[in-house]
Amino acid sequence: MQKIQRKSLLYKSGVEYADYCINHVEGCSHGCRFPCYAMMMKKRCGVIKDYKDWIKPKIVSNALEILDKEIPRLKNKIKVVHLCFTTDPFMFNQPEISILTLKIIEKLNSNGIRCTVLTKGIFPKELADRKKYSISNEYAITLVSLDKKFKDIFEPGAAPYNKRIESLKYLHEKGLKTWVSMEPYPTPNLVPQSLEQILNKLDFVDKIVFGKLNYNVKVSEFQDNKEFYNECANTVVDFCDERNIEYHIKYGTAKKDNKVTEKIFKKVDIKKDLDYCVIAQPAFNI
Ligand code: SF4
Repeated sequence: MQKIQRKSLLYKSGVEYADYCINHVEGCSHGCRFPCYAMMMKKRCGVIKDYKDWIKPKIVSNALEILDKEIPRLKNKIKVVHLCFTTDPFMFNQPEISILTLKIIEKLNSNGIRCTVLTKGIFPKELADRKKYSISNEYAITLVSLDKKFKDIFEPGAAPYNKRIESLKYLHEKGLKTWVSMEPYPTPNLVPQSLEQILNKLDFVDKIVFGKLNYNVKVSEFQDNKEFYNECANTVVDFCDERNIEYHIKYGTAKKDNKVTEKIFKKVDIKKDLDYCVIAQPAFNI
């Protein structure tokens, strides 16, 4: 795998609920075609040339050395570190990335910093080792379908859905906090599917985040998309209420946003996160 070096790694996120973030890889072999907002921004800023370039991840080879310098300076300010916004920390079939991610989580946890980790890959079982990894960490998968054909088109390099769920369930069974990001949820003209069926596979999680698909012309082609997303949001809320599962319906998904989700999601400025990665952390190929 190609290596790059960076000058800094930990950065204060523009996303209200995430606090600090780390993106220790440039690019992502999952190659999502929703499209991937991180890829679009990196392309726009000239960091990558095209999709082919994006799906060849480059690992930040000096990540642990940077953390040794940054953690003592920042650890009193950091509440939680999120991995990752502009790449995937447990990229499927990329063991080098998974090994580095585990070392990063271990280093942060040993300094009293907890992590939230979101992936379309598979969580390694080692994360259940309480001697190495904090029990305060939170682990999440992104899951918007159970349809293999849909995955092969829209998330071609990501882990199979059932393997994502299995790895998350394993961590749940070990007593760790787990959640699922059901975003960007597709409209029926992209994949006809039952939301209830998907939710039933995820009834063990502590939290569900649900959000609509943006930046895709197919969604606006689906005439009743506002009504569709409103009904989906109601289904998620009812499902969670019945099972005492926490939920967030992302801003703009339901017809009427409640004040709590408005506060959490309305001010989200992911562009700031992407800009930071692009501008303030110049990458050097080595
Ligand atoms: S997993 Fe995330 S970062 Fe990777 S291609 Fe898909 S949307 Fe982009």
